[in-house]
Amino acid sequence: MSMNIIDSIKDSVRSLRAYTLAPDRASVKLNQNENPWDAPLAIKQETLKRLDARAWSRYPDFAPIELHKRLAEFSGWFPEGVIAGNGSNELIQALLVITIAAGKRVLINEPTFALYRQITTVLGGEVLSVPLNGALSFDTRSLLAAIKSSAPNVVIICSPNNPTGCVMELSDLVSVLEETRGLVVVDEAYFEFSGQTVVPLLRQHTNLVVLRTFSKAMALAGLRVGYLLAAPELVREVAKAVLPYNLNFVSQTAAEVSLEMYEAALRPLVQTMIRERERLHGELSNIKGLSPVPSRANFMVVRSALEPKKVFAGLLQQDILIRDVSGYPMLSEYFRVSVGTPRENDLLVKALKEILR
Ligand SMILES: *Cc1c(COP(=O)(O)O)cnc(C)c1O
Repeated sequence: MSMNIIDSIKDSVRSLRAYTLAPDRASVKLNQNENPWDAPLAIKQETLKRLDARAWSRYPDFAPIELHKRLAEFSGWFPEGVIAGNGSNELIQALLVITIAAGKRVLINEPTFALYRQITTVLGGEVLSVPLNGALSFDTRSLLAAIKSSAPNVVIICSPNNPTGCVMELSDLVSVLEETRGLVVVDEAYFEFSGQTVVPLLRQHTNLVVLRTFSKAMALAGLRVGYLLAAPELVREVAKAVLPYNLNFVSQTAAEVSLEMYEAALRPLVQTMIRERERLHGELSNIKGLSPVPSRANFMVVRSALEPKKVFAGLLQQDILIRDVSGYPMLSEYFRVSVGTPRENDLLVKALKEILR
């Protein structure tokens, strides 16, 4: 009997478009919000030294206890309330695996990071969304109304939000936590650039889950490390949906060293990126036809009088890669740029002036 092999796949998956990124390459890479400097040499060298002293034939720790301890110190939370993952994406997936199935609802703001909708849909859950307001900031009043009317099982708030850079004020988040019967996940992938964290709210609000990553400020995107902070009883449940040895010891070691050297080696880079973000915002505001949106992350969206696809193509021709976000809800006239090194930002500004002329 013949059968279409694809018939074996769940309808929810077949109807999805795959989450991908075009493989464009350029020497000025401003499309993925990475740290534009490489991981500092001191961090690389100390990591390699520790790796050299270890048997590669042996499994990593079952759970990376030592890393959890350092993450707890770094974040101001309990080690039992921390779990590290192979990127924070693995942890949002694990959290949704243990909470979402057919009949469950996830509430998000839009536009936001595409993966939340993707994973929820694959798991058979329903995605409900509240649009950002006209200034591309959180519309907390509408979000609270949606929580009241639809009783979501999980609310996901990306703050600072990718791709718009807006931050939810702590008092608004407290209202969301108090209104929500289910879990509230705050994705803090960019908190280092925002001057704010929701971690202090973990003590009062046991339904809060915080996600963070080493892929942005910490300059380790290539090694895939993220972590989740929550009440210890919740973390024990998340751990059940994570594969054994999910974090290889190369990444584990690099993450430990990065935490040890954060103040000396990484914080100065973060501070430079924050200054460059403000400078870039000012420079782009002065280009006729462009209106950059204020951001508290290491990227910003820019409204453009010229079609975003044309801006993207023009920049690529000049060896600069940005993100065309014009397919996102509300963003048909926008592109997104990551904050680069001062030299890269200068090149971007110069190229945009020519393209918009
Ligand atoms: C970049 C990014 C992450 C990081 O994911 P990793 O799997 O840790 O690399 C998470 N959330 C958002 C919103 C991001 O933009």
